[in-house]
Amino acid sequence: TDIKELLLSRIRDVADYPEPGVMFKDITPLLADPAAFTALTDALAGIAERTGATKVVGLEARGFILAAPVAVRAGLGFIPVRKAGKLPGATLSQAYDLEYGSAEIEVHAEDLCGDDRVLVIDDVLATGGTAEASLQLIRRAGAEVAGLAVLMELGFLGGRARLEPALAGAPLEAL
Ligand code: IMP
Repeated sequence: TDIKELLLSRIRDVADYPEPGVMFKDITPLLADPAAFTALTDALAGIAERTGATKVVGLEARGFILAAPVAVRAGLGFIPVRKAGKLPGATLSQAYDLEYGSAEIEVHAEDLCGDDRVLVIDDVLATGGTAEASLQLIRRAGAEVAGLAVLMELGFLGGRARLEPALAGAPLEAL
């Protein structure tokens, strides 16, 4: 489709970043192009509306950049899911494994409640570890998962299959 071509044309492949053998997908050209950034925001806001989301979660850090304008466009609250140690209030945290070592993400517990349906937004779905932990965090907070929306899915890493249990039937949309 037209939007897919527009978005793809504004994503830069950077070889051997952040380490040798990795092809990094750099979204900064897309963010710098108002037509592309607006088209992306509108598409994600459409997903928020279709899935009946009541709140939008952005995953630190690039997920914040994409999710905040979606929240404004769709008229929904924005909730940051942050790396451990950054949120000042009472948090729920969720650890997850990385290729080497582990990581932890957190959310303010009071930001989500039982009536919420949450759409999670991030730029890139790779192995799915980060997204999986965020979905677990939302459920532990007592909220419902409306879906997961990403700009890009790196299909060869198998994130979609890994996320099936955590999504529990909620949609995963990759633009
Ligand atoms: P995962 O947990 O392996 O799915 O990695 C996803 C997280 O790493 C997301 O928060 C992405 O922002 C980031 N990430 C992984 N690969 C890339 C990339 O090529 N470009 C930008 N971000 C990436």
